[in-house]
Amino acid sequence: MSSKYNISLVTGDGIGPEISESASSILETIHDNMSIHFMIKKLEAGDTVLKNTGRALPDETFDIIKNSDACLKAPVGESAKDVIVYLRRMLDLYANIRPAKSYPNMPSLRDDVDLVIVRENTEDLYTGEEFDIGNASVAMRIISEKASKRIANYAFNIASQRKMKKVTCVHKSNVMKKTDGLFASTCAKVADNFSDIKFEEMYVDACSMNLIRQPQEFDVIVTTNLFGDILSDESAQVVGGLGMAPAANIGDKFGLFEPVHGAAFDIAGKQIANPTSFILSIKMMLEWIGNKHNDQKCIDVGQKLEAAVYDVVKNNIKTKDTGGNKTTMEFTKEIISRL
Ligand code: ATP
Repeated sequence: MSSKYNISLVTGDGIGPEISESASSILETIHDNMSIHFMIKKLEAGDTVLKNTGRALPDETFDIIKNSDACLKAPVGESAKDVIVYLRRMLDLYANIRPAKSYPNMPSLRDDVDLVIVRENTEDLYTGEEFDIGNASVAMRIISEKASKRIANYAFNIASQRKMKKVTCVHKSNVMKKTDGLFASTCAKVADNFSDIKFEEMYVDACSMNLIRQPQEFDVIVTTNLFGDILSDESAQVVGGLGMAPAANIGDKFGLFEPVHGAAFDIAGKQIANPTSFILSIKMMLEWIGNKHNDQKCIDVGQKLEAAVYDVVKNNIKTKDTGGNKTTMEFTKEIISRL
C-alpha cells in the first residue's frame, strides 16, 4: 500500500522561492519513484505577502498549514516574527531540533561532529513582551517549569536513541538565578529518570567556546530559546555553514521543518543558494511522518535522501558557499539522480 501525505510548502522571501523549487522537485521525485504520495500545497507568507495584503501570514494560509500532515517552510525576511514565531506558538511546536553533522569535503572544523541542539521554542525573550518604562525599555523573560520539563524530556528521549547518550544542559544560571536556575534544576530532575544517559551542565559562554574547541564532545544540547538560536548558527558554521543546517519544530500533534538560515537577501535570485539545509529538513520531515504514522518506508526514504546528499558532497559536487560551483538547481539535480 502506498502512503499519501498533504504537505504545505511555504515558499518565503529572499532565497526562499529558489530553495523551495529544490524542495518541491525532491518531493516530486520521491512521489514519482518511491511510492510515497505527496499532495504539495505551495503557499506564500512573509514580507511580500505583508506588503500586498497587510498580513504576513493570512488566516487562510494558517488554516491550510494547520490542516496539512506537515509543513515545509522556507525562510521569511523581516516579518519572521509574524510567521514562524506565530506558527510555533499557535501550533505549540515546543521543540526546535537542530542537528549539526559533518559531511565530507565541507569547510568544517572537524570531520567527526554529530550533535543536536534541542532548543525550547515557546518561551524566553521570544514571547515579545517588551515595554517602555520612562527612558528605559524592558523585555520579559519567562521560563516555566512545565516548558523546561517537556523540552528536557524531549532531549533525553533523543539522546536515548543515539550512540553517545549524553545531554548537556546549557544555561547561565550564575547570572539569571531565577529563570535559568529553574531551567537547570528542572533538567537535572528529568536527568534522574534517565540513568543510562550522561548529564552535564555548561554555561552558555563556555559552550560557545567548546563548540569551536571540541565540538565532537557534544551529543545532545538542551537549552532555552535565545541561546539555542545563537548556538545553532554557531554549530552550523562548525560543520560548513548555514547552507548545511536543517531544523524541525515539533509539537505533540504537528511538525514544521525549515532551514536554520534566514532569507539571505544578499544572494537571492542568483541561483547560488545552497539548498542542503532545506533538503535535510525534508529528511527530518520524512522521519517524523514515518514515526508518527508507523510508516517505515517514509523513514527509509528519509535515510536514502541523506545518503544521496552525502554521496553528492563526497564527490565534491557543491554550491559556492561550501567551495563549489554548482547552481542551486544543478546541485539539486545531482541529489535527484541518486534517489
Ligand atoms: P536572519 O537574520 O533571519 O537569520 P539573514 O538573511 O540576515 O537572516 P542568514 O540567512 O541567516 O542571515 O545568513 C547569513 C548569511 O549566510 C547570508 O547573508 C548568506 O550570505 C549566507 N547564507 C545563508 N543561507 C545560505 C544558503 N542556504 N546558501 C548560501 N549562503 C547562505
